[in-house]
Amino acid sequence: MAEEIQLDISPMYEGERIRKEDLWVELGGPKADGFELTLAASMDEVQDGKVTIIGPDLKDVKEGSTIPFGMIFKVAGEKIEKDLESIIERRNHALLSYISGLMHLNQRYDIWMRIGKGLAKKGVTSWEQIFKPVVTLYKAEMPFIEKMEVTIVTDPAKVKEELAKAMAVYQARDSRAKGLHDEDVDVFYGCTLCQAFAPTSACVVTPDRPSLCGAITWFDGRAAAKVDPEGPQFPIPKSGCVDAVAGEYGPINEMAEKRSGGEYTVMKLYTFFDAPHTSCGCFETIGFYMPEVDGIGVADRDFKGATPNGLPFSTMAGQTGGGKQVVGFLGMGILYYFSSKFLQADGGWRRIVWMPKKLKERVKEGIPADMMDKIATEDDATDLDSLKKFLLKVDHPVVGGVVRAVDGKKITEGWKFDEVTDEQKEAVIAFIEKTGGDIDTEAVKADLGMSEGQFMQVVEALQADGVLE
Ligand code: SF4
Repeated sequence: MAEEIQLDISPMYEGERIRKEDLWVELGGPKADGFELTLAASMDEVQDGKVTIIGPDLKDVKEGSTIPFGMIFKVAGEKIEKDLESIIERRNHALLSYISGLMHLNQRYDIWMRIGKGLAKKGVTSWEQIFKPVVTLYKAEMPFIEKMEVTIVTDPAKVKEELAKAMAVYQARDSRAKGLHDEDVDVFYGCTLCQAFAPTSACVVTPDRPSLCGAITWFDGRAAAKVDPEGPQFPIPKSGCVDAVAGEYGPINEMAEKRSGGEYTVMKLYTFFDAPHTSCGCFETIGFYMPEVDGIGVADRDFKGATPNGLPFSTMAGQTGGGKQVVGFLGMGILYYFSSKFLQADGGWRRIVWMPKKLKERVKEGIPADMMDKIATEDDATDLDSLKKFLLKVDHPVVGGVVRAVDGKKITEGWKFDEVTDEQKEAVIAFIEKTGGDIDTEAVKADLGMSEGQFMQVVEALQADGVLE
């Protein structure tokens, strides 16, 4: 057994960053597999305080390296139920960050942790010296945990194997959440767990608007609020509906104002543009508005390239995080893509124009059949020009104007030129001369790269000039 080391553990270390110069070992993150999983078990299945290590111990890992990493926490207690697994798991983000010299980011299969050189200087050589105190910490912070056992996995093949099992657990949690809708409940849940990192952030978790981190469903919020009424998850009555389409409710606005310290007073659930939900930084995916096509693109953490607006996920995440309402960018959880209220105020899927192909494959069951081939991926468009061509070719709803599915209201005008140029007029005259006035919409799109609306705009400008009748 490794020698016991007194670690510095305090909420004041939450939010501590470990930069490259201070890095001892990196766990998971963008360059290696990583996962965290908490499982509820019966009292006799858990050996309290036990830490099992599968793979190289900390002292055997080369300084500065990035390794695959999995951590499995088994918890038991009289009040522990399955619904609490996600809640305890999500506390990893805050509680592991209490340890000076340890950084924890993201959640589930996206975890990214760093161990700083400060822990090596303290004499830490084993995972056990970190995770034994973690057991004590978790039991103190969540007294409903009576017993807790930890398994640390660093053997690369075993991490893969356990990650696959963990994915099945996450999927089962999400499937359960997919069956429930906002109409079925009279309470939503708030969560302020991430305020240490993003002080004005306050999440609302509803059946149809699951958490942006992907780690907390409505069921999890309910279980957490029940077992720990003073904790970071709390009920919000579903009442005082101000706008059913945008998802604006009086009690949510009041909660947002109170929990953000007055930073914002309105927060709507199903929109991108007007008083959107806050984004703390833990979001699984990011949505970004592209005014050039009047459409929304989305990207996930795994997509490393530049999106059609020229920005990679990491740059946009930097602009979006911090607990602000950032109009034009929005953090969203994967589960939200399956929601019948997905961005419903903005046209939902009819407004989505681009997404990485892997993400599209992952959420394909949530995409309406008539939109499947109209949403570009990196195979179809890599910049705004190629995106415009693609959207024209497939006749995406943004081209002619988006009609909102929820209420049949036309919410965008479709593509229009700010100003018709001489070059565009000449191109249209040449086109009309070539076709002899027999105008075919497909030919307009292919030959001129214009939508029908834009073509008519140029024709009207030519009529005003007296060039056309
Ligand atoms: S992202 Fe939101 S829902 Fe998820 S843990 Fe943080 S505050 Fe809670």
